[in-house]
Amino acid sequence: MVGTERPVLERSHIAPCGMNCALCLGYQRTKNKCPGCWGDDPNKPDHCRLCTIINCPTISDNSSHFCYECSKVPCRRLKRLDARYRNKYGMSMMENLEEIREQGMDDFLAHQAERYTCPACHGLLCVHRPQCLTCGWTRDDHEAKAKPSRKAP
Ligand code: SF4
Ligand code: SF4
Ligand SMILES: [Zn+2]
Repeated sequence: MVGTERPVLERSHIAPCGMNCALCLGYQRTKNKCPGCWGDDPNKPDHCRLCTIINCPTISDNSSHFCYECSKVPCRRLKRLDARYRNKYGMSMMENLEEIREQGMDDFLAHQAERYTCPACHGLLCVHRPQCLTCGWTRDDHEAKAKPSRKAP
Protein backbone atom coordinates (compact mmCIF):
# COMPACT_ATOMS: atom_id res chain seq x y z
CA MET A 1 0.00 0.00 0.00
CA VAL A 2 1.31 3.47 -0.89
CA GLY A 3 1.22 5.93 2.00
CA THR A 4 2.81 9.19 3.02
CA GLU A 5 3.82 8.37 6.60
CA ARG A 6 7.21 7.05 7.65
CA PRO A 7 7.14 3.49 8.97
CA VAL A 8 6.91 3.17 12.73
CA LEU A 9 9.90 1.46 14.29
CA GLU A 10 9.97 0.17 17.85
CA ARG A 11 12.59 -0.50 20.47
CA SER A 12 11.66 -4.18 20.40
CA HIS A 13 12.98 -4.33 16.81
CA ILE A 14 16.51 -3.52 17.92
CA ALA A 15 18.75 -6.46 18.81
CA PRO A 16 21.45 -6.25 21.53
CA CYS A 17 24.13 -5.99 18.81
CA GLY A 18 22.43 -2.92 17.27
CA MET A 19 20.80 -4.77 14.35
CA ASN A 20 17.43 -3.35 13.40
CA CYS A 21 15.47 -6.56 12.85
CA ALA A 22 12.62 -4.65 11.15
CA LEU A 23 15.00 -4.20 8.17
CA CYS A 24 15.87 -7.87 7.98
CA LEU A 25 14.76 -10.09 5.13
CA GLY A 26 13.73 -12.70 7.70
CA TYR A 27 11.43 -10.21 9.40
CA GLN A 28 9.99 -8.70 6.22
CA ARG A 29 9.17 -11.92 4.41
CA THR A 30 5.58 -13.11 4.59
CA LYS A 31 6.27 -16.84 4.79
CA ASN A 32 8.00 -18.14 7.95
CA LYS A 33 8.37 -14.58 9.17
CA CYS A 34 10.94 -14.18 11.92
CA PRO A 35 9.63 -12.19 14.93
CA GLY A 36 12.99 -10.48 15.44
CA CYS A 37 15.86 -11.06 17.80
CA TRP A 38 13.83 -10.65 21.00
CA GLY A 39 10.99 -12.87 19.79
CA ASP A 40 10.75 -16.52 20.69
CA ASP A 41 9.36 -18.29 17.68
CA PRO A 42 10.03 -21.46 15.67
CA ASN A 43 10.50 -19.30 12.57
CA LYS A 44 13.60 -17.65 13.96
CA PRO A 45 16.59 -19.10 12.08
CA ASP A 46 18.97 -21.23 14.13
CA HIS A 47 21.92 -18.88 13.62
CA CYS A 48 19.87 -16.12 15.28
CA ARG A 49 18.35 -18.39 17.95
CA LEU A 50 21.82 -19.69 18.87
CA CYS A 51 23.54 -16.32 18.36
CA THR A 52 26.32 -15.85 20.89
CA ILE A 53 25.40 -12.17 21.26
CA ILE A 54 21.75 -12.53 22.32
CA ASN A 55 22.84 -15.47 24.51
CA CYS A 56 25.81 -13.63 25.99
CA PRO A 57 25.47 -13.50 29.82
CA THR A 58 26.52 -9.85 29.84
CA ILE A 59 23.42 -8.94 27.86
CA SER A 60 21.03 -10.31 30.47
CA ASP A 61 23.12 -8.78 33.27
CA ASN A 62 23.25 -5.22 32.01
CA SER A 63 20.33 -2.84 32.37
CA SER A 64 20.07 -1.66 28.76
CA HIS A 65 20.42 -5.17 27.24
CA PHE A 66 22.73 -3.70 24.59
CA CYS A 67 26.37 -4.46 23.91
CA TYR A 68 27.37 -0.83 24.38
CA GLU A 69 27.22 -1.34 28.16
CA CYS A 70 29.79 -4.13 28.05
CA SER A 71 33.41 -3.58 29.10
CA LYS A 72 34.56 -5.89 26.28
CA VAL A 73 32.72 -4.09 23.48
CA PRO A 74 33.42 -4.73 20.66
CA CYS A 75 34.13 -8.39 21.35
CA ARG A 76 35.35 -10.64 18.55
CA ARG A 77 31.86 -11.85 17.61
CA LEU A 78 30.49 -8.32 17.38
CA LYS A 79 33.49 -7.13 15.37
CA ARG A 80 33.03 -9.96 12.89
CA LEU A 81 29.32 -9.30 12.49
CA ASP A 82 29.90 -5.58 12.11
CA ALA A 83 32.59 -6.10 9.44
CA ARG A 84 30.29 -8.42 7.46
CA TYR A 85 27.42 -5.94 7.51
CA ARG A 86 29.63 -2.97 6.66
CA ASN A 87 31.04 -4.80 3.66
CA LYS A 88 27.92 -6.44 2.34
CA TYR A 89 25.08 -4.17 3.37
CA GLY A 90 26.56 -0.73 4.07
CA MET A 91 25.36 -0.83 7.66
CA SER A 92 27.21 -0.96 10.96
CA MET A 93 25.97 -2.50 14.20
CA MET A 94 28.65 -0.60 16.10
CA GLU A 95 27.56 2.73 14.63
CA ASN A 96 23.99 1.89 15.55
CA LEU A 97 25.01 1.09 19.13
CA GLU A 98 26.99 4.32 19.36
CA GLU A 99 24.04 6.33 18.11
CA ILE A 100 21.65 4.67 20.58
CA ARG A 101 24.06 5.31 23.45
CA GLU A 102 24.78 8.93 22.53
CA GLN A 103 21.47 10.15 21.17
CA GLY A 104 18.94 7.81 22.74
CA MET A 105 16.59 5.24 21.30
CA ASP A 106 13.88 7.64 20.10
CA ASP A 107 16.31 9.63 17.93
CA PHE A 108 17.92 6.47 16.64
CA LEU A 109 14.56 5.02 15.59
CA ALA A 110 13.60 8.30 13.91
CA HIS A 111 16.90 8.29 11.95
CA GLN A 112 16.41 4.68 10.95
CA ALA A 113 12.92 5.43 9.65
CA GLU A 114 14.31 8.40 7.71
CA ARG A 115 17.12 6.36 6.22
CA TYR A 116 15.16 3.25 5.34
CA THR A 117 11.81 4.59 4.13
CA CYS A 118 11.14 3.74 0.49
CA PRO A 119 10.76 7.02 -1.45
CA ALA A 120 8.27 5.39 -3.79
CA CYS A 121 5.80 3.55 -1.54
CA HIS A 122 6.86 4.81 1.92
CA GLY A 123 7.21 1.26 3.17
CA LEU A 124 10.27 0.04 5.03
CA LEU A 125 13.30 -0.93 2.95
CA CYS A 126 15.22 -4.14 3.61
CA VAL A 127 18.89 -3.85 4.55
CA HIS A 128 19.64 -7.14 2.80
CA ARG A 129 18.22 -6.23 -0.59
CA PRO A 130 18.76 -3.25 -2.90
CA GLN A 131 15.13 -3.24 -3.95
CA CYS A 132 12.06 -2.38 -1.88
CA LEU A 133 10.29 -5.67 -1.15
CA THR A 134 6.92 -3.91 -1.34
CA CYS A 135 7.10 -1.97 -4.61
CA GLY A 136 10.39 -2.91 -6.28
CA TRP A 137 11.98 0.58 -6.17
CA THR A 138 15.76 0.06 -6.26
CA ARG A 139 18.55 1.94 -4.51
CA ASP A 140 21.45 2.98 -6.69
CA ASP A 141 23.89 3.85 -3.92
CA HIS A 142 26.83 1.63 -2.94
CA GLU A 143 24.65 -0.51 -0.70
CA ALA A 144 22.67 -1.57 -3.74
CA LYS A 145 25.81 -2.95 -5.34
CA ALA A 146 26.23 -5.48 -2.56
CA LYS A 147 25.61 -8.98 -3.79
CA PRO A 148 22.44 -10.40 -2.24
CA SER A 149 23.14 -13.35 0.00
CA ARG A 150 20.76 -16.25 0.57
CA LYS A 151 21.94 -16.39 4.16
CA ALA A 152 21.14 -12.72 4.71
CA PRO A 153 20.70 -12.28 8.48
S1 SF4 B 1 16.56 -13.45 11.22
FE1 SF4 B 1 17.86 -12.70 12.91
S2 SF4 B 1 18.43 -10.60 12.30
FE2 SF4 B 1 16.66 -11.24 11.07
S3 SF4 B 1 14.81 -10.55 12.18
FE3 SF4 B 1 15.22 -12.63 12.82
S4 SF4 B 1 16.48 -12.42 14.67
FE4 SF4 B 1 16.59 -10.44 13.58
S1 SF4 C 1 30.15 -6.97 23.21
FE1 SF4 C 1 30.02 -7.72 25.31
S2 SF4 C 1 27.79 -7.99 25.68
FE2 SF4 C 1 28.10 -7.88 23.47
S3 SF4 C 1 28.29 -10.02 22.83
FE3 SF4 C 1 30.35 -9.19 23.12
S4 SF4 C 1 30.87 -9.80 25.23
FE4 SF4 C 1 28.64 -9.98 25.04
ZN1 LIG D 1 8.65 0.74 -1.96
